[in-house]
Amino acid sequence: MREAAATALAAPDKEALEWAAAAARLGGFERCLLLRSEGATLWEYPSSDDGLRLPVDGSFSGRCLSGARAQFADSAGDALHPRERAVLRGCNADYWVALPVLAASGEPSGVVVGLRRTPLGVGTGEQERLMLSLLAEHLALIWRNADLEQALLAARERRRELEAESAGLLQSFRTAALVLTPDHHIEAANQAAAGLLGFELASARGELLTTAAKHQAIAELITTVDATGGGELPAVTLGDEAKTAVELRIHPVFDSRGELRRRVVVIEDTTRQKQADALKTEFVMMISHELRTPLTSIKAFASTLLRDDLGSLADQREWLQIIDRECDRLTALVNDLLAISRLESGQKLPMQFTEFDLVPLLREVVAAQREHATKHSFELALPERLTAEADAEKVRQIFANLVNNAVKYSPRGGCVTVAAAERGAQVEISVRDEGVGIRVEHLDLIFEKFFQVDGSSTRRVGGTGLGLYLTRRLVEAHEGRIWVESEPGAGSTFVVALPRRRHVRDRLGT
Ligand code: ADP
Repeated sequence: MREAAATALAAPDKEALEWAAAAARLGGFERCLLLRSEGATLWEYPSSDDGLRLPVDGSFSGRCLSGARAQFADSAGDALHPRERAVLRGCNADYWVALPVLAASGEPSGVVVGLRRTPLGVGTGEQERLMLSLLAEHLALIWRNADLEQALLAARERRRELEAESAGLLQSFRTAALVLTPDHHIEAANQAAAGLLGFELASARGELLTTAAKHQAIAELITTVDATGGGELPAVTLGDEAKTAVELRIHPVFDSRGELRRRVVVIEDTTRQKQADALKTEFVMMISHELRTPLTSIKAFASTLLRDDLGSLADQREWLQIIDRECDRLTALVNDLLAISRLESGQKLPMQFTEFDLVPLLREVVAAQREHATKHSFELALPERLTAEADAEKVRQIFANLVNNAVKYSPRGGCVTVAAAERGAQVEISVRDEGVGIRVEHLDLIFEKFFQVDGSSTRRVGGTGLGLYLTRRLVEAHEGRIWVESEPGAGSTFVVALPRRRHVRDRLGT
């Protein structure tokens, strides 16, 4: 049993027991005991469930420990704690000889005890003293080594924890981040960095950045920066399809001796921001242009009207009509912008649903466009009546936009046809033109914000790229659908389907 227990002991424990046995044999002790102190307790080393435990306060060994000097003390009888007496009895011994074990700092860390049949006596027992002293010194070393090993294990464990924590932290960043050794090997990286630089996260650790990364432009930029350098680097655009734009920051990390240990690289993907900036600039230019055009003609005709030679009444009327039309154009533009900014800020469009006949409304929309579409003819294929529950002003805006586009994008004229019919629970209204048409790859895109098939030529006919976006949102606010069929060069047909009744889907239970 004892043997099995001894083989299960750790190396330092075994060594200590062997030393204790040797000291007992050579020093003429019945037995040598090793007691380690921990707070207010002394416990028998190596620790076991049935090992001796003594209070520091109240035991002879405890007193010897708190004396804190390498001084022998021996005792029999009364000075001993009952448990100490019991141990003596168990070994057929009568004297308890104790010597504190002092750590390198001079602090007592335990007590070695020799159990004897006779007291040490003055001037006698040199061999015994020597053996116990050697045992105490050796035990101090064993304990120190064991403590150091323990501390080392704890430090390793802590390091592992820290590494796991920092890896977790890195992964939790949406921004690409990686840690490089001073000679540019990858020490850690997150998924965003692996995606942006084009390397396999699982196998990249330890690899040279320029070897692992597919995007050489960034890798080279990072590695060519002065080894101890940090801070912001110039923005780079990658030559990939997405024209990815990135901004880099490098933070050097130094050790306590001031040597570079690693570099933390943070890479921000600024593509969307760059695109948004470009879009904003484009938008401001476009809006300025759109505002200036009507303002220029309003100003010109108003100045003419203010001149002394006012012209004929017919002229004056025509000029006022132009001013009136341009004011309408400005108002429509400002209203569009307000609606868009409302939608962009997440607000819903305010809707006022009433049941009304769409036919007169469509006739009015066409009549308004006919006034200034000199090259176009208009055809209406409408039923007698076509009622729907909708927001009349928004429906007017939808078709004013579609008919206006039909005219705008048929620069050589042609026929614009507005047709409407009932289709089950819906009304379907189409606006057909014989204009430039739309290429198939643009059919969905034209309903996106700011999208214009050809910005510069569209600019000539006037436009912001917001009309169809707003139209789609207005149709969707009615729970309807809009789509387009087109053949480049032959014209386009925009179709709007609106439910005849609100929440028709709920009522049908589908
Ligand atoms: P814009 O203010 O530029 O007219 P829209 O959102 O109304 O903006 O339209 C987006 C783009 O869709 C236009 O720039 C044009 O290229 C295309 N488009 C719209 N309607 C038509 C049409 N009837 N025929 C051909 N192209 C059209």
